[in-house]
Amino acid sequence: MKFLCVECDRQMEFEERQLPGDGTLAAAFKCPACGRVVAMLTNPMETQLVASLGVKIGGRTLEEQPMETVRSMVATGREDAFAEQDGERGAGSGPIWSGEAQDRLSRVPSFVRGMVKRIYADYAKERGIAEITPAMMDAARSELGLEGM
Ligand SMILES: [Zn+2]
Repeated sequence: MKFLCVECDRQMEFEERQLPGDGTLAAAFKCPACGRVVAMLTNPMETQLVASLGVKIGGRTLEEQPMETVRSMVATGREDAFAEQDGERGAGSGPIWSGEAQDRLSRVPSFVRGMVKRIYADYAKERGIAEITPAMMDAARSELGLEGM
């Protein structure tokens, strides 16, 4: 998947973006010349699909997208919708990840790993679960409809 900045005729660079909890994913592509950002938003089911393709996104070449598709995805000043994420990391109050759970998380494509991690962490927090284990991940997946993540 490639996005071209229409005005600069430059290929946009992949930037990973995430939204919390609700399974929504945003992938952003930024023009290195003018800084314009195009964002792709997906619902949880589409996110799953993207997760299975995730390793290819941002580096390698997928199909060219018709410009109309790109135009329809151009984010309109929603840049700061993502900004709130940055302060959240390193708060240190989240649940513990067991070694096995960490192994499993490490197999999630990096493209969506942060989002997946947050979904499980939120799930654990909401239920007062102190340690995230593969069994808990299974329970969360079936309960949240995230099979495959
Ligand atoms: Zn540009």
